[in-house]
Amino acid sequence: MLKSPDLPSRVKMTSITEIRALLDARKISAVELAKIYLDAVKRENPALSAYITVTEDAALDAARRADERIGAGESVPPLCGMPFVLKDNISTAGIRTTCGSKMLENYVPFYDAAVWEALRGQDAVMLGKGNMDEFAMGSTNETSYFGGAKNPRDLARVAGGSSGGVAAAVAGGLASFGIGSDTGGSIRQPASFCGVVGLKPTYGAVSRHGLIAYASSLDQIGPIAVSVKDLAAVFDAISARDKRDMTSRGAEQVSDSLTGDIRGMKIGLAREFYEGLPTDIAKALESAAKTYEKLGAELVDVSFPALRHALPAYYILACAEASSNLGRYDGLRYGRRAEGGGTLDETIRRTRSEGFGREVRRRILLGTYVLSAGYYDAYYNRAQLLRRGITNEFERMFSELDVLLTPTAPVTALPFGADLSPVETYQTDICTVPVNIAGAPAVSIPCGFDSDGLPIGAQLIGAKRGEKTILSAALAFENETGGAFIKAPTSGVKL
Ligand code: GLN
Repeated sequence: MLKSPDLPSRVKMTSITEIRALLDARKISAVELAKIYLDAVKRENPALSAYITVTEDAALDAARRADERIGAGESVPPLCGMPFVLKDNISTAGIRTTCGSKMLENYVPFYDAAVWEALRGQDAVMLGKGNMDEFAMGSTNETSYFGGAKNPRDLARVAGGSSGGVAAAVAGGLASFGIGSDTGGSIRQPASFCGVVGLKPTYGAVSRHGLIAYASSLDQIGPIAVSVKDLAAVFDAISARDKRDMTSRGAEQVSDSLTGDIRGMKIGLAREFYEGLPTDIAKALESAAKTYEKLGAELVDVSFPALRHALPAYYILACAEASSNLGRYDGLRYGRRAEGGGTLDETIRRTRSEGFGREVRRRILLGTYVLSAGYYDAYYNRAQLLRRGITNEFERMFSELDVLLTPTAPVTALPFGADLSPVETYQTDICTVPVNIAGAPAVSIPCGFDSDGLPIGAQLIGAKRGEKTILSAALAFENETGGAFIKAPTSGVKL
């Protein structure tokens, strides 16, 4: 078992469960709690860049409402008074929502996303909006117009992407939980880089209403937290059918039935995910598999040959959908408008050239190309066929398995400015994108440290609507290892 050389391994960040107990016993008020977190954010966010916008007034208002509810002696919902961070591609009426882009730098939505409504309904306390790669396109946070979020474990390293700000805030003790979005790994990979847990739910479990679209058939909202039980509590709070998102169907509640008993569970190891892994990551995963075996799971060797098609299929489909979704930013309706364009065409051209960063422009161009008349069959249609093939292979595997255990990423947190080419960066998404292609759920849990002391993540993938199974498996590991792989922040809030 690899252990971080320098940090105490058993101290945790403050979990929702721990905060709930403090609030319910009136040892601390929600307002006091919010002030402690807001002070920590003010002190540490300049170095971390986890938040793009801090919403102090709204946070204190919500905390006051939470205190009234707690004070009235009613039994309050699980997230009442709980300080959290919301990714900045999730619409908040009256609060700017930038999507990490210059295009939406001053955009203030006039309606709320469904998840924000749900959390506000519980009087959870939003501290601010989390930093992210521009339009959620990226794996390092470096495409954010506001400068990338830093990794609280090592400020010279990236927090991952695209929900890097959310993971950095949670791992840095600047929020008790966070809400991210995941199109090809954007919840799981930053959770793994920062050493916390993240859940990408089954496609349709959580409403996408109010999520600024990147690739609609792959996008899904989910939680990042410091413990598996916390993940389950937040998932229960946000999963729901919503008639404003016709692809949503909700999910059964999971919190109360997570036992962590995995005896007899069949856990698959698909060899393709393990090819060419750096030694530290391979060892950490091997040791995680052994832990599962010890806990009574049956390890099964399986093969997933379609893995090699996952990246090309994903990057064609995601770019195609993005090129269509981002067509709405024309400088005319909302968002940024370039000055001095003269003609309509020129205004649109200038707005889009100025408003979008390089990576977003690259993907719009790629997406437009693969959808153009002469190339549609060669690229887009073929990618759709690959998607079908990958989904079929997933279904075949899960007819024999409960869970697939893989690394979350073939790398740990990269240094800032690692200067990878776009394709090299895309390749680091290899373990996470197949899950979105198949619409399946997956959770990332910390399972070790590399030789630099950086967290390593294990991914547990389930069959569609298998959240309870993967979270149970995650809980079993966390219970067994005593959270040894979740390091305490060196800064932030410690209650
Ligand atoms: N890194 C992947 C991409 O750039 C995934 C991003 C995401 O899940 N939003 O598309």
